[in-house]
Amino acid sequence: MAAQLGGQPTTILRQGTQRTTGSEAQKGNIMAAKVVASAVRTTLGPKGMDKMLVNSAGQVTITNDGATILDEMDIKHPAAKMVVEVARTQDDEVGDGTTSAAILTGELLSKAEELLDMNVHSTTITAGYTLAAIKSHEILEGLASDISGDDEDTLINIAGTALTGKGAESSKGVLAPLVVRAVKSIIKTGVDGKDTANIKDIQIERRVEGEMDDTELVEGMIIDRTRTHQSMPKRVVDARIAILATPIEVRSIEFKSEITLSGVTERRAFIDREEQMIKEVVDKVINSGANAVFCKKGVDELARHYLAKAGIFVIHRVNFKELKKLAECTNGRVITNLDELTLDHLGTAGVVEEVMVGNGEMIFIRDCPDKKIISIILRGGTEQVVDNLARAMHDALMVVRVVLEDGRVVAGGGSPEIELALRLREYAASLKGREQLAVNKFAEAIEVIPTTLAETSGLDHIDKLVELKSRHEAGDKYAGLNVFANEIEDMKAAGVVEPLKVKLQAIDSASEAASMILRIDDIIAATKEQKGPKQAPGLKDYEF
Ligand code: ADP
Ligand code: MG
Repeated sequence: MAAQLGGQPTTILRQGTQRTTGSEAQKGNIMAAKVVASAVRTTLGPKGMDKMLVNSAGQVTITNDGATILDEMDIKHPAAKMVVEVARTQDDEVGDGTTSAAILTGELLSKAEELLDMNVHSTTITAGYTLAAIKSHEILEGLASDISGDDEDTLINIAGTALTGKGAESSKGVLAPLVVRAVKSIIKTGVDGKDTANIKDIQIERRVEGEMDDTELVEGMIIDRTRTHQSMPKRVVDARIAILATPIEVRSIEFKSEITLSGVTERRAFIDREEQMIKEVVDKVINSGANAVFCKKGVDELARHYLAKAGIFVIHRVNFKELKKLAECTNGRVITNLDELTLDHLGTAGVVEEVMVGNGEMIFIRDCPDKKIISIILRGGTEQVVDNLARAMHDALMVVRVVLEDGRVVAGGGSPEIELALRLREYAASLKGREQLAVNKFAEAIEVIPTTLAETSGLDHIDKLVELKSRHEAGDKYAGLNVFANEIEDMKAAGVVEPLKVKLQAIDSASEAASMILRIDDIIAATKEQKGPKQAPGLKDYEF
């Protein structure tokens, strides 16, 4: 790129920099974002299709989770990346509605393109979109109903809606109540009286074995290990837990000294000495009053034998993260020097127990002083099933959390979108100026959700949209598409409900991303610097 100054061109950008401006830039961006959005379109809804993603290492992921698909696709185009960002934000904030948000972004851009072709300026479009998004909040809030944390049935329905279409709906009967129980047990009421729940407080374990229905909730912490000696107790009640970051083995082995032993007596003496040392270490553990030991490092075989004899439950090779969590849950301290192991540094738990989960053992630590520890063991026949279950459960846990925090829900099945479109059109009619056009396009765009739901269910979307619209015009605010019965139904009555926040977030991030893309009219892209081998300075470089 060069500017002309007094006849002499001045270069201001690095050579090779690519620049696209005006409508070419705009069109290119819109196209890229639309392509990405359309990639997830067929996955929407309970009857959405799955995508098979193969990464460069050959690992296969089969999913219809919008956020996962977009994350796995290695997208380079900057505008297309913004759609990925929309899905990611949606996932982080509310956990569900990622596909919807991405599709809506694409559709808003598609409709904007029509306006651009009619010579409506992008500033007018973005202003109209912003007005429409604000109005959508108002309309959706009006459609929402309040639910209390005690409304178990609605909470289960919300979890169920999030689980539907992710390959987990066949086990909805088991999973949805489990999700509600899990989130409810980690709710904390703050000083301001507001309830909050951090989903990260729920430990998720996986076991590729059995069926999804075998998924279970454990009130406590889980460590995927087995006890180190068969004769150790399987269950310790009123556990006093030594949490060790130091090994239980003979220190002398660590010294790299060389000892030459000659004769049987000398060898015997050496072994006795070693045994003696192990015993001393073991005695430190026994004297502390511990009846369970969780050790980060190894526990010597002989030590295990002595500890088992003393009736102590020992788990070793626990990773440090788990060890720290164990210390937190049981109010214990991580010990790095066995001389510091005293009764008041031990953690406590009602029960420490080795339990058979499927064909393998796991360690459950229950009735901890911190009662809010919850774990879920996901089960399924194959790695893929468990992966999909994990994603579906994440969505479900998040939506239940969102509803418990926010307390408002709307019906699903495309019903809020149809109502929104109808009301936004009324609103547009009240506006003067060209923004009206943009608000109308926004209304058209939002219909992409019911349209796509009909498409993925193999229904004629035009027929269904006409029917839905007329039902809404007649005042049937919750009429939506029951994709199982292929009928238009009152979705609220049918129990297809979703958090209000999922819808609000999708509208906000989609309209913001669309507006941001529309405002770009200049793309200046630097080319990557060529990193060739550096040449040694030749004679030429020093010539004058
Ligand atoms: P997203 O990532 O956007 O959540 P989903 O594939 O989960 O995508 O589909 C969500 C859409 O499916 C929502 O519009 C929701 O209302 C709808 N939906 C969920 N369950 C049903 C159902 N039983 N009948 C009709 N629509 C449903
Ligand atoms: Mg969903």
